[in-house]
Amino acid sequence: MTAHFPFDNSYARLPERFFTRQPPVPVTAPELIAINRPLAEDLNLSLPDDEDEIAAIFAGNSLPDGATPIAQVYAGHQFGGWVPQLGDGRAVMLGEVVDRHGIRRDIQLKGAGRTPYSRMGDGRAWLGPVLREYLVSEAMHALGIPTTRALAAVTTGEPVLREAAFPGAIVTRVATSHIRVGTFQYFAARKDIEALEALTAHAIARHYPEADGPRGLLQAVIAAQAKLVAAWMAVGFIHGVMNTDNMSIAGETIDYGPCAFMDAYHSEKVFSSIDQFGRYAYANQPNVAVWNLAQLATALLPLMPDRDAAIEDFTSDVNQFPDLFNAAWHGRLRAKLGLATETEDDIALAFDLLQIMERQQADFTRAFRALSGPDPDAAKQEFANPNALDDWFPKWRARLVAEGQSEAGRQQMMQAVNPVVIPRNHRVEEAIQASISGDYAPFLTLHEALKRPYEEQSEFAAFQDAPEAGEEVRQTFCGT
Ligand code: AMP
Ligand code: MG
Repeated sequence: MTAHFPFDNSYARLPERFFTRQPPVPVTAPELIAINRPLAEDLNLSLPDDEDEIAAIFAGNSLPDGATPIAQVYAGHQFGGWVPQLGDGRAVMLGEVVDRHGIRRDIQLKGAGRTPYSRMGDGRAWLGPVLREYLVSEAMHALGIPTTRALAAVTTGEPVLREAAFPGAIVTRVATSHIRVGTFQYFAARKDIEALEALTAHAIARHYPEADGPRGLLQAVIAAQAKLVAAWMAVGFIHGVMNTDNMSIAGETIDYGPCAFMDAYHSEKVFSSIDQFGRYAYANQPNVAVWNLAQLATALLPLMPDRDAAIEDFTSDVNQFPDLFNAAWHGRLRAKLGLATETEDDIALAFDLLQIMERQQADFTRAFRALSGPDPDAAKQEFANPNALDDWFPKWRARLVAEGQSEAGRQQMMQAVNPVVIPRNHRVEEAIQASISGDYAPFLTLHEALKRPYEEQSEFAAFQDAPEAGEEVRQTFCGT
């Protein structure tokens, strides 16, 4: 078979100031690490039979017909500080295809070489961040959480210089778009109203066709982000770098850098080595989301004919976020406890449990999964003091009785939302370390285990374990 990507590149048809036309910079010796065949099928791609030819495509050495490679420009607030121009500094979008469900998806090579937005960077990525993104984004998808996907990973045959020289690599990212809050901010800051209008129309047509104008778009993004952050928190995910340039208008998780799933529960947990003040800590994620959405609202204001009225409307829309987030978050917490109906005290019950988990350093994933089984008492082992749940258990059991659900139904409901396997940091780290010496087996096995995160798979039992004292990863680093 020869390569065929049915490209239809709508972003590249927007005005030239939205991007720079930029082919990927070819690499010396591409080698395929992973190709996501089910995703390729979903995208209607035909791939060559030969692995070297596949590697050449996803290394950027051989462009499929119809590609119009571009680097997108955007701006953003990084840790609250305004940066008027950012952009794809190490990523090149090949183009868009319409998938089997009629959804338009971007195909982007990340680590594809320098672009006009590279600033001091080399435009490259190394194996570590590439495999991390592949594993974690695909795990996120398997968990049922909106996310960009990973289509391929290749090595380049070229070293990349970081703290040391590491093998260079490229991950192919698929997104329903790469439009960020920061894309709107870029044009708003330049008072380029025409571009802002075109971007808004493009984003609405693509993601929220039912949305009515800029305000409709704002409301839709607010709703999508409220659900997304609740979904993250329900699986213990910390994005780590929720800058406005890393927040997708489509409501997908994007830009897997210093992200992490927590092991032991703590509401203030931070992993990112550069997040000194806990701006992007676990429980601060909804606050940061509101802050980012306020920036989106500000960027959309110039499109409104009556500015004062729009400020009032947009403020009230942004202020809806806490209610929307809480509705989503509380719904998830109820489901995690096996509660299909709502009573007033449910959230206090859930927060009580989280507080005990925090004090007792309970493993978030293991504790909830143990509660989901036939013998919830097994969860006690996850707490430093196994008696710490003595007061909580009877309250939960009483609440379950009021629920009137069968025991089998309860287990089924809880097991569908409380995963067995998550991409634990020490396992991701282990896979990366092995890959540096050319052994991809741990990466491939972990990836396999993460495909069915809600199922008990005895062959992958080791991935359920929390890290031993010496294995715990306390810090993660930006994917550069
Ligand atoms: P991030 O924090 O990973 O979202 O990246 C922030 C900005 O830095 C984006 O504009 C990236 O394109 C850019 N960037 C990150 N790493 C590199 C690199 N190795 N070379 C060039 N640009 C980079
Ligand atoms: Mg980014």
